[in-house]
Amino acid sequence: MIAKRTLQRVLARGITTFRFDRALRQLLWRDRVAVLLYHDPRPDTLDDHLTYLKSFCDFVPLSQVASPGNGRPRAAITLDDGAVGNADLLPVFIKHNVRPTLFLCSQFVGRPTMHWWLHPAAKLAGIERLKRLSNVERLAELGKYGYQQAHEGEGTGLTTAQIETMRPFVDFQAHTRFHPILTRCDDRDCEEEISVGKSELESMLGTECEHFAYPNGNFTEREIRFVKAAGFKTARTCNLGWNDSRSDPYRLKTIVIDDDAAVWWFAAQLTGIPVFLRYLRHAHNFSGNSPQF
Ligand SMILES: [Zn+2]
Repeated sequence: MIAKRTLQRVLARGITTFRFDRALRQLLWRDRVAVLLYHDPRPDTLDDHLTYLKSFCDFVPLSQVASPGNGRPRAAITLDDGAVGNADLLPVFIKHNVRPTLFLCSQFVGRPTMHWWLHPAAKLAGIERLKRLSNVERLAELGKYGYQQAHEGEGTGLTTAQIETMRPFVDFQAHTRFHPILTRCDDRDCEEEISVGKSELESMLGTECEHFAYPNGNFTEREIRFVKAAGFKTARTCNLGWNDSRSDPYRLKTIVIDDDAAVWWFAAQLTGIPVFLRYLRHAHNFSGNSPQF
């Protein structure tokens, strides 16, 4: 942990010393939209990030990712999975006048079920290893350790009451039913996770869902086909980059932010360099695309 912090400090220092942050803002971000990806940040951490961002950047909703800008960097705030802790962020969204998009798994919100990777079974079996198994194998393995994805007990997602309170200030969109790795599902499960996840969320919200986020950023042409067929207008990947009117709406790029990033590390992450290096290490290519399996 200490070694990781030290490495982060060295990298962040390098980025600011050589002014990569300013250069990248000028060259790559400039008139584009950075879609920032969070999961479950603490309110005070997110407050610090948004305060820093506001000094040079405008906030836009995700629906405006392809709209022309006014020469200032823009950012859309997205949070994946619908963790129960997201409810505590509402005062921060209101304070900064940000309308974020929360991508929800329809079966892990509004009922007392547990996101599979938060269950002790996933930790015992190894979360990263589980992601690479076929979906049937993953569920079988989790089952051996006592996890059933539809089992009700301790809930880890937003409740219907919390969703209702947040609704005037937050854009809720779809992130499948049970958050499998879609590329490890057979055709039927993949299609169902995408289309039924959409309809279940729509009946809960009473509004249409137009935006999708690929769980763990895993997708192929097949997933894009199902996403289009379900009626989504955009889909967000975990591929690194900024967006504008020329972006493929079904391959929106993002900048993954660590939920617990101190402001100096957040500023470094906004350059994309830390994520680029992480993907380079795991995917062994220079594309800035997240590892696929
Ligand atoms: Zn997710």
